[in-house]
Amino acid sequence: MTVPFPIDWKHAMVVVAHPDDPEYGMAAAVARWTREGKRVTYVLATSGETGIEGMPPSEAGPLREEEQRRAAAQVGVNRLIWLDLPDSRLSETPGLADAIGHALDAHPADLVISTYRGPEWGPGLPNQADHIAIGEATIEAVQGRDVWVFENGPGSTHHVEVSDGDVQAAIRSLAEHQVYLAVLDPTTPVRAQARAVVYRSITRADRDSRVGFTLVSAPTRN
Ligand SMILES: [Zn+2]
Repeated sequence: MTVPFPIDWKHAMVVVAHPDDPEYGMAAAVARWTREGKRVTYVLATSGETGIEGMPPSEAGPLREEEQRRAAAQVGVNRLIWLDLPDSRLSETPGLADAIGHALDAHPADLVISTYRGPEWGPGLPNQADHIAIGEATIEAVQGRDVWVFENGPGSTHHVEVSDGDVQAAIRSLAEHQVYLAVLDPTTPVRAQARAVVYRSITRADRDSRVGFTLVSAPTRN
C-alpha cells in the first residue's frame, strides 16, 4: 500500500549516474510534473561514456549526452547538469557528494530524487556500483537541507498517478537513446525496447497507472 506523492514542492532535482537512468524508472512521473508546471532538473554524474560496447569513450560520451538531452526534452526537462565524473568508477571517485551539493547550491530544489541504493533490483538482478555510489552521495549531499528526499527503486512508499499521455512521453523519452539501445539489443526495435521497459516501471492499480518512489526523508517544515 502506497500513499500519494507530495505536491507541496516546486523544483525537483533528479540525481543519477548515467544517461538513461531517469528514463529507466521515473520518466512518466516527470512528464506529469512538468505538464503541471513543476520544474525538474536532471543532474548526471557521468556521460555514460563506457556504456556503448565497441565505441570509444571519446565518441560515446558526446553521443550519449545528446541522446540524454533529447530524452529529457520529451518529458519537459530542459536543464541538465553534467558533473563530468568517470563512468563505471563513481564508487572510487572522491568529491561526489560535494559535486552534488554544489549543484544544489546553484539550483536550489525542494525535492531531491536519487537512484536506488539497494544491492539488487530483484533476485539475480544486481544493482550497479555507480548507482549505489550516486545514491549514497546524494543522501550525503542533502544532509542539513530541508527538502523532500525520495529514491526510485523497489519497495515504494509513495506513488504518482500518471496519464496515458505521460506514459507515451516516457516511452518516447527512453527511445531517444537510439544508438545506446540499438547496441544493447540489436534484435529488438528501439521503440519496442522502450515500451517494454517503461511498462515494467509502471504499476497498474484499478484504472490508474502509477510510478513508485520510496521516501528517504521529509522536510521538517511539514
Ligand atoms: Zn545507470
